[in-house]
Amino acid sequence: HTFDDFYLSDEMRRALDAVGYKQPTRAQVAAIPLILAGIDLILQSQTGSGKTAAFGIPIIEMLEPQPGRTDVLVLAPTRELAQQVCNEFERLGQFKRVKATAIYGGTSYERQYEELEKSSIVVATPGRLIDLCERGKIDLSQLRLLCLDEADEMLSMGFRDDIEAIMAFLPEERQSLLFSATITDEIKALGNKTLFYPENVLL
Ligand code: AMP
Repeated sequence: HTFDDFYLSDEMRRALDAVGYKQPTRAQVAAIPLILAGIDLILQSQTGSGKTAAFGIPIIEMLEPQPGRTDVLVLAPTRELAQQVCNEFERLGQFKRVKATAIYGGTSYERQYEELEKSSIVVATPGRLIDLCERGKIDLSQLRLLCLDEADEMLSMGFRDDIEAIMAFLPEERQSLLFSATITDEIKALGNKTLFYPENVLL
C-alpha cells in the first residue's frame, strides 16, 4: 500500500512529504478510506499505530475551511494529547492553511477565544470545552465531524457526563468517530449515544 491508493490532494501529498511519511501504517490503510466515505466508525486502536494521522489525513482532506466556523471537534483525555493532536493537524494541513487550536484547562480564556475565532479544528479536553459551551463562548452549531480520541481514557478519567453534555451543543447531522484501545460495554454505550449506526473497525 502507498498513499497514492487514497487519491489525496496535492496539498496533502506535499504535507506527507514534508513530515516524512512515506508509507501508510496498517491503521491508516484501514481507516482512511472508511473515514473519507463519511460513515460513523468505532475504531479499536493503540497509540503508536499512527492513529492520529489515520483520522488527521482524511479529516483535513474533507475540510473546507471558512473563517469563523468550527467544522471539526476532537475530544481528548489530556492536555498533552490535545496539544499533540493539534500539532499533527497543523503539520498535515500546512499547505491547506488549516488552523487548529487546542483547548484545555489552566490557560487564559482570552487567548483561547482569539484562537477559536481563527480555527476550523478544535481539539479539547471535555472539562474545559463544556465550560466554554455553557458560557456561550464557542459555537459548535455548524460542526461537521466529531472525533472522540482515546475514549476509554476519557471514561476512566470521569469525563462521561461532560461528553454527554457536550453532545447537546452539536448538530445531529454530522460524522462521528470513536477511537479506543479497548471496546468495553461502557464504550459501546457511549458509542450508542454519540454515533449513528457505526461500523466497528479493528486497526
Ligand atoms: P500515533 O499512533 O498517532 O501516536 O503515531 C505514532 C508515531 O508514528 C508518531 O510519531 C507519528 O508521527 C508517526 N507516524 C504516523 N504515521 C506515520 C507514517 N505513515 N509513516 C511514518 N511515521 C508515521
